[in-house]
Amino acid sequence: MQVVYTPIHLAHDIDTETFMGVGVPANEVTERAERIRGALLADGGFTLTAPTEHGEAPVTAVHDPGLVRFLEVAWSETRAQNIPRAFLSADTYPNRSMFEGMSAEAVARLVREPRQIGGRAGFWGLDSAAPLVAGTYVAARGAVDVALTAVDLVLGGAGVGAAYGLCRPPGHHAARSMYGGYCFFNNAAIAAQAIVDATGERVAILDVDYHHGNGSQQIFWRRGDVRYVSIHADPDRQYPYFLGRADETGEGEGAGENLNIPLRAGVTDDEYLAAVDRACDALAAVPGSVVVVSLGFDTYGLDPIGDFALTTAVYHEVGRRVAGLGRRLVILQEGGYHRPSLGENARAWLRGAEGREFDPLPSGGFGAGGSVVA
Ligand SMILES: [Zn+2]
Repeated sequence: MQVVYTPIHLAHDIDTETFMGVGVPANEVTERAERIRGALLADGGFTLTAPTEHGEAPVTAVHDPGLVRFLEVAWSETRAQNIPRAFLSADTYPNRSMFEGMSAEAVARLVREPRQIGGRAGFWGLDSAAPLVAGTYVAARGAVDVALTAVDLVLGGAGVGAAYGLCRPPGHHAARSMYGGYCFFNNAAIAAQAIVDATGERVAILDVDYHHGNGSQQIFWRRGDVRYVSIHADPDRQYPYFLGRADETGEGEGAGENLNIPLRAGVTDDEYLAAVDRACDALAAVPGSVVVVSLGFDTYGLDPIGDFALTTAVYHEVGRRVAGLGRRLVILQEGGYHRPSLGENARAWLRGAEGREFDPLPSGGFGAGGSVVA
């Protein structure tokens, strides 16, 4: 399988994030992508491919151009406004209750982007969980190019059944006009839109990250041509808290096209596979030849921010079952924060999708010492 990778992601170099207002060591770090790259190279069955530049048009096909402009200048503006800090993160957001009692027309007129950079970050941001640094914009655009190059490989007519885009930063929390949750541009949504545009077919997105992909859901909420199916932690206990429940099914032409499968804490491999089967039924019902997979490994039992109990073996089986749909697959990396296991979990999933056997490294072999890291 071809793996689209670019070292441009290294520019988004984060060492601190905030959790409930307190600075903590960052989870979404450069090492994540390097671990995965190292494990796939060590496997010998994967080929690394550099992305090609696709320009801004596919980004603004999904995102508000104002969000793109903000992210492009956010760091230089932070510097220009003499704000002495290592990363930009907002602390004031336009909470819905700020406008309670006002008409929709008044809200549309009154809620506008302020001039101060912290206010602008609050205007475009969902939360303080997406620290922005000097290289964030270029890395986020690089991740989009990774996703679109994976699309090109799969649509290219060379009989490629699946391609994996090692996207970093991830994307599925980014909505049309909003970044957040470590995500800046929604790589999977941009890929799905590009597939719709290129093929005229309906497209399905399968999101198996631990978190609900609120951005992907929002972007396609009223769309009949892109079905969004997500298996994730119940938002009653987990980020993004305000979306991801089972009764969110879409509206208008998108009515019935959104399927959320929220799961309890401690979910086991067998319970998870039952959810995967349910999701696959919903994907198989979509006419079309391509499925976009938002692939996260924060479902892993040892993940520091998740609470599922999945093992490496189940990823191989999930990959196998998703490939069993018989669709072409554009597989894009989202989350996953237990760094020592990331490479092995990705390798297992992708081998399953390719129909290769589960071939775990000898026990303990995924390298507390980081031996697979290039
Ligand atoms: Zn996640």
